[in-house]
Amino acid sequence: MTNSAKASDALSQLDQSSSAMVCVYGTGVSSGYAMGRVVVMGAATLEVEHYRVPVDAVESEVARLKTALKATAAELQNLAHTLPDDAPRELAALLNVHQLLLEDPLLTHESFELIRQRNYNAEWALTTQGQTLGAQFSTMEDEYLRERGGDVRQVVERVLHTLAGSRTIPALDFMGQVNEPLIVVAHDISPADMIRLRGAKFAGFATDLGGPTSHTAIVARSMGVPAVVALGQIRHLARDGDFLIIDGQAGAVLINPTPQQISTYERLAADYARAKLALLDLRDVQSQTLDGVRVGLYANIELPDEVTLALEQGAQGVGLFRSEFLFMGRSDLPGQEEQLQAYRTVVQRMGGRPVTIRTLDIGADKALDGEATVATNPALGLRAIRYCLARPEIFATQLKAIYRASAFGAVRILIPMITNIAEVRAAKAIIADVLSDLRQAEIAFDADVPVGAMVEVPAMAIAIEPFVDAFDFLSIGTNDLIQYTLGIDRADAEVAAMYDPLHPAVLRLISNTINAAQRHNKPVSVCGEMAGDPNLTRLLLGLGLTEFSMHPRQLLEVKQEVLASHSNALRTKVAVALNRADPIGPDLLN
Ligand code: PEP
Ligand code: MG
Repeated sequence: MTNSAKASDALSQLDQSSSAMVCVYGTGVSSGYAMGRVVVMGAATLEVEHYRVPVDAVESEVARLKTALKATAAELQNLAHTLPDDAPRELAALLNVHQLLLEDPLLTHESFELIRQRNYNAEWALTTQGQTLGAQFSTMEDEYLRERGGDVRQVVERVLHTLAGSRTIPALDFMGQVNEPLIVVAHDISPADMIRLRGAKFAGFATDLGGPTSHTAIVARSMGVPAVVALGQIRHLARDGDFLIIDGQAGAVLINPTPQQISTYERLAADYARAKLALLDLRDVQSQTLDGVRVGLYANIELPDEVTLALEQGAQGVGLFRSEFLFMGRSDLPGQEEQLQAYRTVVQRMGGRPVTIRTLDIGADKALDGEATVATNPALGLRAIRYCLARPEIFATQLKAIYRASAFGAVRILIPMITNIAEVRAAKAIIADVLSDLRQAEIAFDADVPVGAMVEVPAMAIAIEPFVDAFDFLSIGTNDLIQYTLGIDRADAEVAAMYDPLHPAVLRLISNTINAAQRHNKPVSVCGEMAGDPNLTRLLLGLGLTEFSMHPRQLLEVKQEVLASHSNALRTKVAVALNRADPIGPDLLN
């Protein structure tokens, strides 16, 4: 029985025998089990950094917040004194309200208490208390008081602005050091917010919205933290301080479970950890099928520090470095030197193994800070290569950094979301300019860096020939390919059930792409989430795939499947199934 089957089984028994105070089902997007106390986060709370301050630094963190509150009050006072005579009278009154709020113990004292009692950093404490206060105002009958919720938000933002740059305390890995593990409960979490949450090492995530291949889910998986999304109302059902179990296998969340449920989950978590550990034995085993077909297993990473995990799990290289995560959750753009350092770190640490750096794929659910997406449908808008061609200076800076990193190891460049040949020409022209600049400046780089394209827009997969010709390699981005082929937003919980990787149209596009690449003798991989799903390994092998790139935590489970598969037999089975009208099910391959 698989771990997830065991979990569902345990859950159904529990449902019959006793009941958790509440058990809610959603979509498990990051496996494993977590237990801890709830921290409910609203949008403003999510947008700040989260870290636990060491016990002996608590008072200096309180002092940091006090200083910021004082400085903000002085700033407001100054503003009030320098208001021009013709300024509207409401403005002076508003400044006065803000000053009063800044001194209100409900905001200040309670924030100090959150720092002292829960070890929150000042920003986290202030936004949490601001959120509580704002919610209280919003339920008031008096319209004037109801509107004060907006003032609380503005005051908090002012103080956050003052606090920015004064962070002095290092993040603390709180697990086992301070209090209990914490589980984030939120309506939704953007990928940029998820990156901010990495610092505090939360034990799990539960959200109302989200889909299995949303970038939020992808980052949760990369953090190795169990997560359940699409829970509908979890933000209203769970309260701060509730005890929560996250079952990433079954996609369930138990709020305030019984002692019996807790001990069942402790057992499941221990079994899960043991199974993961046992898989490590496969790390150095040659990755090949029973009939001797070598299968390349590569890692997808979002940030350079994930290289450690990729190597631990035996990755043969990096098949997808989502470079846009270097650009998110910050107010400025990383310059050439900063990017070079990130790329070089990855390249050097991979020690000669290939590193595929994808050029900036910003847009859709990954927005740059301060650059609100204005397109009607961002997933169909100025995203990825479209964005880069519209902002050639950003693209050229990134390309220079990537080429400079190529002097330190094996680099490949991967361009996302290519849709037509004109984009290929434009991108190549910018690459040629970059290379000529580097030559002129006598900067070292590898002139033979392979340049590949993501196959993720159906147009390209359908009209594949000239694209295979134009690139050195292809990588199939099934996450977007499914989204665009089926017209299903990958991040939308309401249509998640229709997001079907096994739809015959999707499988034909994958098959078409693999066949074309093989005809042209060009390497082709899958780097979407399908590649990391062990239930789909045999299907992809049957489609002729020999290069998989996935989150490092999935590598060994997929390797286990590869080792037990017979490639030729699978190819025959899949070829027959592809020609039938019925949808292919993974059961067909067992
Ligand atoms: C994909 O679309 O499958 C892919 C790997 O890229 P991303 O998930 O970053 O869009
Ligand atoms: Mg994509």
